[in-house]
This record gives sequence, structure tokens and C-alpha cells, in this order.
Amino acid sequence: MNNEFDWIQSVSPKKLHQPSVKVGIGDDAAIYSVHSEFDQVVAVDTMVEGIHFTRKTMPIKSIGYKALAVNLSDLAAMGAIPLYYLVSVAVPKQGWTQEELSKMYEGMDQLACKWQVDLIGGDTVSIRDTLVLTVTVIGKVKRDRHLLRSQAEEGDVLFVTGEVGLSAYALEHLLNDESPRVDQSSFARFLKAHQEPEPQLEAGQLLAKGDGRVSLNDVSDGLAHEAKEIAEASGVNIVIDWDSLLIPQEFNTHPIEKQEDWMLYGGEDFQLVGTVSAHYWNELVLRFKEHHLLLHKIGRVEKGEGTVFMKRHGTRSIIEKSGYHHF
Ligand code: ADP
Ligand code: MG
Repeated sequence: MNNEFDWIQSVSPKKLHQPSVKVGIGDDAAIYSVHSEFDQVVAVDTMVEGIHFTRKTMPIKSIGYKALAVNLSDLAAMGAIPLYYLVSVAVPKQGWTQEELSKMYEGMDQLACKWQVDLIGGDTVSIRDTLVLTVTVIGKVKRDRHLLRSQAEEGDVLFVTGEVGLSAYALEHLLNDESPRVDQSSFARFLKAHQEPEPQLEAGQLLAKGDGRVSLNDVSDGLAHEAKEIAEASGVNIVIDWDSLLIPQEFNTHPIEKQEDWMLYGGEDFQLVGTVSAHYWNELVLRFKEHHLLLHKIGRVEKGEGTVFMKRHGTRSIIEKSGYHHF
């Protein structure tokens, strides 16, 4: 990088969305004021080139977009409202131009504008081989309104806020160079799910607003993994009902093992998965309808000690957390 200072200037936001920012980029640290009605919520996630993404499977702008999206998804899973983010980037001495780095920031900025999140700082260092991008997000949630994984109880409904398996399906095709062979118009939504996933912030905030007991997690490592985390944190068993999952039509021509791979273990869909007390379910469905958001029942909670089952055509099997895919 020729002139780090100029480059940081060029990727600094020209205008901030949040009036609470007192000092943004440009000094030694950022300062924002806090409101006493809210708790602060913080999350950080790192994407490493060659491990979490490759330039073969991700356009440069999407790398930035996704790095912020996965962090916003963590805030969504707490029921929080995002406010600010910071970016630490380790840039390899070769292989990345300043223009490409700026493109990556454009991707972040696009999503940040949508959710009114302000870039308030970061760090820039050099590294030997591959790019490492770390994003920290800061948000807020009304005092004691946050949503945890540990609130599931026997009899609860298990839900998800959208389709799962799309990202894994896209990735598999990208890695096998098969994307030119699939129907491009139908592949677009799978590609979007993988490259520029939408964090389910509205859904998370809606769940945090209501009065029902909710437990919540985001689908970063696969439905099986996330359900297991809820089951373990809550000390219950969870049954995923395969027949009630929304299965994309494109999956139908593939063997059931493949469908399971994508939908249960694929991950990176960044939908929200959670549980809610059964008597609150109908009200919640209505609320989601009013907001034009999807809420789909995919199973239920039973007494137990952290086991996740899958039920298909009446037969149950235990499913494990595994099936953890990178890139
Ligand atoms: P310092 O030596 O005080 O850490 P830096 O030169 O690292 O200062 O950073 C100067 C300003 O630019 C700070 O406000 C910092 O938060 C911001 N900044 C540095 N690198 C980045 C980056 N990659 N993205 C966004 N902001 C950055
Ligand atoms: Mg610094």
C-alpha cells in the first residue's frame, strides 16, 4: 500500500448515520455516547482468505459485504439493533491492489447503509500470504430484552426465518466449476445466499420486542449445529421435522444425502433458528406476516439433555453437530 493514510481517508464514510458518534475515524479511538435504556451488544468475526473464502468463489465486493453480514447476523441473533462497526484488515504484501481493497469496503458500505451502521474505526497491517478481514460490530438492545440460546423448554415450537441449504448448494457448484451448467436465473438466489447473505435483523428485533419466551441462534454453521447449541444451552432435546423443512425445488433431483448435507450441515445461510413457547406461536406468526417476514415451523422441543433428532416419514435419527464446512 503506497499511502495508508490516504487510503483510509478514501474508505472513511463521508457521512454518518448515527448522531451518537462523537468521534469517528481520524483520531486514536472512536467515541460514541450511550443511552441508559439500552445494553450494549458486541460481536467480532474474522474471515481468512483460503479458509473462509477464496477469490474464485467470491467477488471482491461480496467479501466485504459478507464480512459485515456475518457480524450483523450475530447481533440479529441477540435481538439487537446494530449501530457501529470497526474493520481490521491484514493485507498480503502481494496479490491485493488498493483498488481491490476499496471494492471490499464498498461491499461493507452497501450493507452498512442499508442498516444505518457507521464505520467508526479500524486497523491496517500487512501480512505475508493471504488477506485476513476482521469486523467488529457494536449494537444495542433494550435492557433485558436480549435473546439467548438457553431459553428453550419442553413443548416449544422450533422455527426458522427462511430457507436453509442455499449457501452450501451454491458453494458446491462454485467449487466444482458447475455454475455455468446450472440454470443461471434460478441459481442467482443461491449465489446471493452464499455471497451476500441478508442478516435477519428485522426478524431478530421483532422476536425481541414480543412478550413470549424465545431462544435464538443464527445459522452460521448449519441447522444441525445451531439446533444442538440451543438444545445443549437449554438442557432440552430438539426434533427437526424433515418433512416440514422448505426444500428448494432444485434440490429434488439430488439424492437425499446431498439434500441433508446442504440443509442440515451446510451452514452460512444466516437465517435465524429458535424456539418459542407453543401458546405464543400463533401470535408470532401473525406479527411476522404483518411485517412481511417469514417464520416457519420446523420441529419442536422435548424433554431431554441436549440431543437433536431428525424425523423423516415417522422415523427418528439422532443428528450430530458435524458437517462443518469452510470456504
Ligand atoms: P493509530 O496509530 O492511532 O492506531 P491508525 O493509523 O491505525 O492510528 O488509524 C488512524 C485512524 O484510522 C483511526 O481512527 C483508525 O480507527 C482508522 N483506521 C485505521 N485503519 C482502518 C481500516 N482498515 N478501516 C477503517 N478505519 C481504519
Ligand atoms: Mg492503529
